[in-house]
Amino acid sequence: MIEKMNFKVPELLNEEIKDYKKNSKERLELEKTYDNLYNQNIKIPLYIGNEEIYTKSRKEIFPPHDNKKSVGSFSVCEEKHVHEAINNSLSVKNNWTNTPWQNRASIFLKAAELIAGPYRSKINAATMIGQSKTIFQAEIDAACELVDFLKLNIVYMNEIYNEQPINVGDVSNKLEYRPLEGFVYAITPFNFTAIGGNLCASAALMGNVVLWKPSDYQMYSAKVIMDVFKEAGLPAGVINLISGDPIMITDIALNDPNLSGIHFTGSTEVFKNLWTKVGANINMYRDYPRIVGETGGKDFIFSHPSAKSKVVSTAIVRGGFEFQGQKCSAASRIYLPSSKSDEIIGILKTQIDSITMGSPRDFKHFMTAVIHESSFDKIVSYIEKAKSSEEAKIIIGGEYDKSKGFFISPTVILTKNPNFITMEEEIFGPVVTIYVYDDNNWKETLEIVDKTSIYALTGAFISEDKDSIDYALKKLRYSAGNFYINDKPSGAVVGQQPFGGSRGSGTNDKAGSKLNLLRWVSPRLIKQNFNPPVDYPYPYMD
Ligand code: NAD
Repeated sequence: MIEKMNFKVPELLNEEIKDYKKNSKERLELEKTYDNLYNQNIKIPLYIGNEEIYTKSRKEIFPPHDNKKSVGSFSVCEEKHVHEAINNSLSVKNNWTNTPWQNRASIFLKAAELIAGPYRSKINAATMIGQSKTIFQAEIDAACELVDFLKLNIVYMNEIYNEQPINVGDVSNKLEYRPLEGFVYAITPFNFTAIGGNLCASAALMGNVVLWKPSDYQMYSAKVIMDVFKEAGLPAGVINLISGDPIMITDIALNDPNLSGIHFTGSTEVFKNLWTKVGANINMYRDYPRIVGETGGKDFIFSHPSAKSKVVSTAIVRGGFEFQGQKCSAASRIYLPSSKSDEIIGILKTQIDSITMGSPRDFKHFMTAVIHESSFDKIVSYIEKAKSSEEAKIIIGGEYDKSKGFFISPTVILTKNPNFITMEEEIFGPVVTIYVYDDNNWKETLEIVDKTSIYALTGAFISEDKDSIDYALKKLRYSAGNFYINDKPSGAVVGQQPFGGSRGSGTNDKAGSKLNLLRWVSPRLIKQNFNPPVDYPYPYMD
């Protein structure tokens, strides 16, 4: 009987990143899969219980780098589907909650193995096509990070279950880590396939049932994830996938008394909106819904005068322009000392000059297109603001073209105003803004770093001076939830750098860690007395 067996959890090891060198086995397989998917005209259903529902109303999927070529479509749900999905999940809840944790773990372990193996090229190719990631960006996200989330969360789940109260005398105390009583609503962004998979899987692993609404712009890879879960043996209904109008779907989910949790990643504005709606409905719910949200960022790189110029420049290029700056952790405001700024900007120009941009199918490119037209237009509006402002000028890039795909060249703005709009607002594109400070004022400038934006997600401090690092760590204590010393502020790895920020950047529940999983349980303390008292007076009363 499985209940009587123990279970050795996976080792705390990260999935190895493949390098996709020319003519390597993984490269050839990936290219073949990419070409197949590109010409397949996929039809993506809703996943409700055992059913895959192909609705009449459909939305086309256009690769951002080839924006007139449809590669398929996904189903747009009606209100009735959302109700069906919630009710279906609740109907399987009891079974899932009572499934031994070892069995739940083995399903997600199998999902991890499927992604690491037979589904690797498919999930990477779907991410490259639908979200325009280069193979490297797809590999570290859709394959490696998702595998890490699925495996390492099992380790963290086991650690949580092992945390038990002490027993004194004739009493036994146990903490039963119950799943939440209702359902969890997972709403996920376009920019990480792994986040899509993790936000539903982490809650489900802990025994919850989940309604998953991915971003319209991650639907291709979301389909691969659902197929993997199914093949791994996840019982029907534990995770139901719904796609369509986000406001309609959300309103139905948030108007259900069984809502027990929201697992969100996306923009700050949408998250605040969800929180407001939950607040307005608070008397209707059975539980106080757990609200977990990781949201926007305005991530900084601060170069101390002692920093090495090439280290700073490389951190800016990788941190600011990988995946076209569409990482919540992407560097977007840069502080350079006047003594080194010319040198750093010079290196930056040389590095950026060698960057090419184009379809991810062409492996030489470091950058591809931004996700969709409204994002393109928004990013361009910031570039235009900089062009027309007296407080700023564009020193690198500033070109854009959406005729074939949503391409924006890596752009560097130089401003005299540390509060210039592009230093404060999240742009979510390949645009960084540099502010040059007087070397003698580096401490005062840290004060500006802390106060400039509403966000506090990631930040990097680059310095060869130990005392300055200690000072910055104290001064910027609340400026970033992930703080990097002598590195770029992006690229967190599950198990190594648990991720999340506070202030406007979210609830800082650190995805891919025990802290996050704790949000999906509601512990029950069970005290059993083996020698119960038989009369009420205490000794002091004699
Ligand atoms: P988004 O906020 O536009 O969308 C996120 C999800 O919310 C999608 O599923 C979308 O369909 C849904 N949504 C949109 N409007 C809604 C509404 N009015 N009501 C309910 N749901 C709604 O975000 P995006 O463009 O997909 O992703 C980019 C954003 O995500 C950036 O702000 C980025 O910083 C943030 N992000 C944060 C983290 C983090 O860990 N902090 C990670 C990735 C992305």
